[in-house]
Amino acid sequence: MNIILLGPPGAGKGTQADALAKRRGLVQLSTGDMLRAAVRAGTDIGKRADAVMKAGGLVSDEIVIGIISERIDKPDCASGFILDGFPRTLKQAAALGLLLVSKGKTLDAVIELKVDDTVLVGRVEKRAAETLAAGGTVRADDNAETLKSRLLAYYRETSPLIGYYFALDQLKTVDGMASIGDVASQIDTILDGGS
Ligand code: AMP
Repeated sequence: MNIILLGPPGAGKGTQADALAKRRGLVQLSTGDMLRAAVRAGTDIGKRADAVMKAGGLVSDEIVIGIISERIDKPDCASGFILDGFPRTLKQAAALGLLLVSKGKTLDAVIELKVDDTVLVGRVEKRAAETLAAGGTVRADDNAETLKSRLLAYYRETSPLIGYYFALDQLKTVDGMASIGDVASQIDTILDGGS
């Protein structure tokens, strides 16, 4: 089963993808995590992505499509994967469609986590505070200022994907304002063939 989780920064994609991956034995593919690892490792891709990510912009389609294309070829993806943070542009969505066809894979569901914009800043700030309290390193882009750019990038580039997948009859929407457990149940209902 191959799934896309869609939603703005702070919608809960990472949290839900992680839990869903564990529940269903799927692999979570977060392009944000992969890019942050590349930045830490100082690879060529990391060097190209670093400043864009810190500014809250989008890394080039060419880079992220390349990363995903390589990653879904790995044996662990054979049992299914959850795309968390990809695709983020119409170009990425079209490229993903072609990639899946060429690799003989299907897209089983596109799930939108719908949340009120007004809670997003608070959620991102909470994530940063919790990471700090746990002794972790806060993401360079998890602050109110950069979040504005990330939200703009979301509405300009990513939100059209909701219409795109709706038109392809693949879109399902869950209430992302519900509790983490409730959102997980809504996702399970969809994947088990419910509404
Ligand atoms: P995320 O962890 O999904 O919030 O992603 C963090 C940052 O990584 C984003 O703000 C972008 O700069 C970059 N990024 C992650 N995924 C993509 C993507 N599919 N296309 C372009 N940039 C991305």
